[in-house]
Amino acid sequence: MHIDILTLFPEMFEGPFDASIIKRAREKGLVAIDYINIRDYSQNKHNTVDDTPYGGGAGMVMAAGPVFEAVDHIKSSRPGTGKLIYLSPAGRKLNQQTARELSGEERLILLCGHYEGMDQRVRDELVDDEISIGDYVLTGGELPAMVLVDAVVRLIPGVLGETASAEEESFSDGLLEYPHYTKPREYRGLPVPEVLLNGHHEQIRLWRRRQSLLKTLQSRPELLATAGLTDEDRIILKGIVLELEGLGLPEDITRKKRR
Ligand code: SAM
Repeated sequence: MHIDILTLFPEMFEGPFDASIIKRAREKGLVAIDYINIRDYSQNKHNTVDDTPYGGGAGMVMAAGPVFEAVDHIKSSRPGTGKLIYLSPAGRKLNQQTARELSGEERLILLCGHYEGMDQRVRDELVDDEISIGDYVLTGGELPAMVLVDAVVRLIPGVLGETASAEEESFSDGLLEYPHYTKPREYRGLPVPEVLLNGHHEQIRLWRRRQSLLKTLQSRPELLATAGLTDEDRIILKGIVLELEGLGLPEDITRKKRR
């Protein structure tokens, strides 16, 4: 995959993309990332890329000219077309399904906004998709672009050591993930659940599935409606609900104390 990132602050990406899984994916040639400084395409001698909004109002707006020029440059200098995504709080919200879809693209162009946002003509003419990372407003599109790239790149085949680790993560099957434990067996008096120590694969599978369903029911119950549950899942869920009702507890009271 080739990713071009259009930004006013390319230096912000140094560090996050030079470590861990993204670094390894770049080294393996599974992803290439280029930064294009929109300011290099400024059309005036002061190198500005923003201007006051027509109609008045607070703040500045990123001008169309430099972004159009930068996109023209990318498209003419590399073969093939890529989906152009504008990171925007008004976009559709990023989730694992979207990350999975995008991980199949050969090329992506990510556009990071600043100030009050982008001249609407850029959005109307150049942008294929608008993606938000959540219902809050950040200063610029750089952090959202990093989040998007991380979520997408780790799903490119070959990026994670074991494909199983991506397949079993939260949201991969519509549910939250079960808890993990590692050595030692007991730490500060806190034991690892016995079932994980007995080597009985079917019991471990069932325990993990139950934990996954319980966690989802407690933290994100709305996910259950679209999770594509199996008959076995429904039986396990019924057991969980009966057990909680038997204890006279609503599901959320059984949650662990939050630290
Ligand atoms: N005035 C804009 C609005 O109300 O939608 C917000 C502009 S924000 C200060 C500047 C830039 O940060 C946006 O153009 C966008 O690229 C990025 N941004 C801010 N919050 C975001 C979010 N939750 N998801 C994705 N991008 C975001």
